[in-house]
Amino acid sequence: MEDIKVLLVEDEKKIADTLTKGLKELGYYVEAAYDGKIGLRLFESGSYDLIITDINLPGINGYDLCKIIRSRNQHVPVIMLTALSTTDDKIEGFDSGADDYLVKPFEFKELLVRIRALLKRTLNQQLPMGNILKVAGLELNVDSKEVSRNGIPIILTAKEFQLLEYFMRNRNKVLSRIDIAECVWDLDFDTRTNVIDVYINFLRKKIDKDFEPKLIHTQIGMGYIMKDR
Ligand code: CA
Repeated sequence: MEDIKVLLVEDEKKIADTLTKGLKELGYYVEAAYDGKIGLRLFESGSYDLIITDINLPGINGYDLCKIIRSRNQHVPVIMLTALSTTDDKIEGFDSGADDYLVKPFEFKELLVRIRALLKRTLNQQLPMGNILKVAGLELNVDSKEVSRNGIPIILTAKEFQLLEYFMRNRNKVLSRIDIAECVWDLDFDTRTNVIDVYINFLRKKIDKDFEPKLIHTQIGMGYIMKDR
């Protein structure tokens, strides 16, 4: 479950926070935006398994957000939340590419039923895009082992690839040298050596040096973090 990434776009902070908390407790990874434009930015920089969006949003409304998402990704399931409940509103929601529609107020349980049904459907479809990790313009294909930034291919060694994959799967999370050592090197790896720092510098030269924004950041005294802001 911790691999399931949900993007929630909802400007009513109370609803957004309640849903985020509820989904996190169930083990989903959730990123929330209170604005349509920020929601779109997160969508563009991340790789989500499910999107939940309100319709009346500042920035970009839910219909337009959904149309943009559909123009870039045919597969990701989208659930719309709204206070509007006329048939026309529902039709507009489905026309913009939403897979399901939930009228507020709704019970959290009801949302969960919809989420599970949609995820089950997409998991059964064996998505061709499912194994591509994206952060900003950086793309990593888990299957073909190809990496590119802004469309420019980047050649990595096997260790650099593993390290990058680990960062991308844990974006926005500070990773200590011990975390990195355990996941990318073996358990008995001596974290007192500077091998990890050396490899991170190799990786930075390849994926960050010639590009903006920089993605790998040093958190002094704590480790490293991959983020685009
Ligand atoms: Ca709203």
